[in-house]
Amino acid sequence: MHTDPGHHFSGARHRLRRMRVLKLNPETDAVLAVDVQRGFMPGDAPGYGELPAPGGDRVAAPLAALAGHVSIFAASGDSHPADHSSFKTRGGIWPAHCVAGTPGARLHPLIEQALTPGWFFAKGTTRDADAYSAFAVSDLADRLRQAGITRLLVGGLVTNVCVLATAMDALAAGFEVVVLTDACAAVQAAGVPTGQEALAQLRESGATLTTSSALTRG
Ligand SMILES: [Zn+2]
Repeated sequence: MHTDPGHHFSGARHRLRRMRVLKLNPETDAVLAVDVQRGFMPGDAPGYGELPAPGGDRVAAPLAALAGHVSIFAASGDSHPADHSSFKTRGGIWPAHCVAGTPGARLHPLIEQALTPGWFFAKGTTRDADAYSAFAVSDLADRLRQAGITRLLVGGLVTNVCVLATAMDALAAGFEVVVLTDACAAVQAAGVPTGQEALAQLRESGATLTTSSALTRG
């Protein structure tokens, strides 16, 4: 068996290309923190634990840490009517969560802080319509384009529902999408993909998966 130095070389180059470090560009990068709300976090404090994603409280810090590295920090949040159609009481698949004006709908304190100033988009505000994607119910895409943003750094809650829908819409709208795997958490529920399946779908659709610490290192 002979060795093939050419083949070996191209393999090494391929690995290098795959592992290239993404450099942040404050002019063209924006952070999009999807639904980092108290209702999606485990815990007993007011509003917490309505629809808890295991580890949901850990996504806020890595997202907030990126605020100083980009010119635009945007966040979305569920702001549901008390009888929203996605709730089990109405035949939906979710326990009641993030009802407008209640503690559960409030953003994690670190995201509230990072968002000053920033862009907030409420979604799920209509009683009979679901709205998993932050793009579906807002002029977010136009506003980002007008601001010169070409790449979105996306994280939040939950990986396999609203982060997935938002990041897929961002790709469809023509943005580069970087999904921050250390700034996402998933829930298990019937009828939705798992967190790992969601990340695989995003990667196959063209998103880059990395961590926030890899972006800010050095
Ligand atoms: Zn919701």
